[in-house]
Amino acid sequence: MNSTQKAVLVTGGARGIGRGIVRHLADAGWRVAFCDTDTPAGQALLGESAHDLLFLEGDVSSETDVTSMIRDTVTWAGRLDAVINNAGISDPHTGPVEALSLAQWQRRLDINLTGPFLLAKHAIPFLKDSGGAIVNIASTRAMQSEPDTEAYAATKGGIVALTHALAVSLGPDVRVNCISPGWIDTQSWQGDDDACAETLSESDHDQHPAGRVGRPEDVASLVAYLISPEAGFVTGQNFVVDGGMTRKMIYQE
Ligand code: NAD
Repeated sequence: MNSTQKAVLVTGGARGIGRGIVRHLADAGWRVAFCDTDTPAGQALLGESAHDLLFLEGDVSSETDVTSMIRDTVTWAGRLDAVINNAGISDPHTGPVEALSLAQWQRRLDINLTGPFLLAKHAIPFLKDSGGAIVNIASTRAMQSEPDTEAYAATKGGIVALTHALAVSLGPDVRVNCISPGWIDTQSWQGDDDACAETLSESDHDQHPAGRVGRPEDVASLVAYLISPEAGFVTGQNFVVDGGMTRKMIYQE
């Protein structure tokens, strides 16, 4: 370890929630590396950020890419203190299960579930060295479903289980938690203020006990807490960030 600034690797950091996490952690003083398969979006984030970020083009489902990402992050930052497993195929809908091909099923498993396993596996030596932490991004769909979302739901349920398994195996050196977001709109929220573009309706917001649809910052701020020393007694847990939706009883009138 040759640097005093803590370093984090965020997967799927070029767009959406991952992009919000990258920006939040960089603003909070972390040295941030992020990977993505979307190279133009990754380059765009590098260009607009005032921080010195590292963009790694790579696929989390490839063990070769994952080993390179970890190695390149440690070479760049001199250390690794946290991994945020955010990359995923975020569209949950795969159609009727009778017509779900094995290839579609396997692709979601490879990216959404095998990816976090590979990142954890190859980051462990560095995280043990730094007393670091892992945060996996699951979903409220690990606990509840719409029709025709079997593959996505299975990967997210798998992440919740992978999280407590890793936490028990890696403690006390490394803490592992996961976050289950509800509806996080990644398009409409404008920057960090409370303005929201009109693509979301009043009822979109009002149905949430918290009064609004979520935004990437809602997830990013919890990530920051979970990888901080303040969360030193917190491991193996799943934190729901959904504006209260999974606490609301919904019976049709
Ligand atoms: P998004 O599609 O906007 O962003 C996902 C990012 O991951 C993209 O930049 C994409 O290029 C990248 N990615 C995809 N496959 C990859 C791979 N194989 N290797 C590396 N990068 C890859 O999605 P999002 O809404 O920001 O979702 C981020 C995470 O949060 C996902 O795991 C998703 O399942 C989860 N989630 C999202 C919501 C939501 O409402 N947005 C709710 C619950 C959970």
